Order: sequence, then structure tokens, then C-alpha cells
Amino acid sequence: MKCPCCGKEVEPHQMDVAFGLPDAIFALSEEQRDARAKTHADFCSLDGKRYFIRGVMYVTVQELGTKFGWGVWAEVSEETFDRYHELYDKDGSNEPPAAGILANTLPGYTAIEQPLEIHFGPADKRPIFKPTPTESEFYHEQIEGLPVRKWHSIIEQYAG
Ligand SMILES: [Zn+2]
Repeated sequence: MKCPCCGKEVEPHQMDVAFGLPDAIFALSEEQRDARAKTHADFCSLDGKRYFIRGVMYVTVQELGTKFGWGVWAEVSEETFDRYHELYDKDGSNEPPAAGILANTLPGYTAIEQPLEIHFGPADKRPIFKPTPTESEFYHEQIEGLPVRKWHSIIEQYAG
């Protein structure tokens, strides 16, 4: 597919970017990580007092009209972390939304404190993270759509 922003050939199916760890754990040396963090594909803790869960945050790409998914981490309370454990292999669709804070800095944006609403769902799906309103460029683009140029530079950074 030719990219609508520049005409270059792009992979049309690259509609997500995933972060393997929350930034606070990724930043540690391997030694520190082993000593201080408990990591898993879907939940992590740091020093036994900071808790993170992984989910997906969707945004529509302008011009393409398709959804791009950020596979990111949210820092949550111990209660939410424990609740997610309980719901992990169950259907959490009727669970009221929980609160969290975005725990990854996204490429193309400055680091921001972005609150999230966390929606649990069926056991085979990761929770959906919905950003709550802030004054940031990030939030603005959640509403207006991700500019196609930005989508292109994001997938180029993470290609392969
Ligand atoms: Zn392009």
C-alpha cells in the first residue's frame, strides 16, 4: 500500500505498536530489574509497591480511517492489580472501569501524566485503556485522529 502522506510503500497491517515493559522497569539495568521487578507479559510490579498492567489504547488514523492500537502499560493501585489477577481468566465485561496512569512515553509525544480509564473485557482480550481528557497534544489527537504522517513515522521506528 502507498502511504497517503508520502507515497512510500508501507505495510498496511502494521496497526499496532507494543511496549514490552512499563518505562520505569525498562529503564533499569538487567541486574536491577532482576532484583526489583516482577515481570510478566500482562502484569508487572516494581519494589513490591508499584503495579502495572498491560492493555490496548486505540486511536483512529486520519485519512486511513482505521484504528491504530498502542500496546501500553498503565500504573494502577494494588487493588486494581489484584482485581485484574482475579479476572485474568474470567469475563470482566461487567466490571466497572478502573483508573490508571499511562506508564509509557509514546514516540512523537512529550512525556505526560495521562490518566486512563481501564475497561476489562473477555478473558482472551487485553483490557482497553481510554484516555481521560487532558490539555495535551496526545489527548487532542485521540479525539481528532492520529495524523497519517505521525502514524508513518511511528511504524517506521518500530518496523520489523
Ligand atoms: Zn508516509
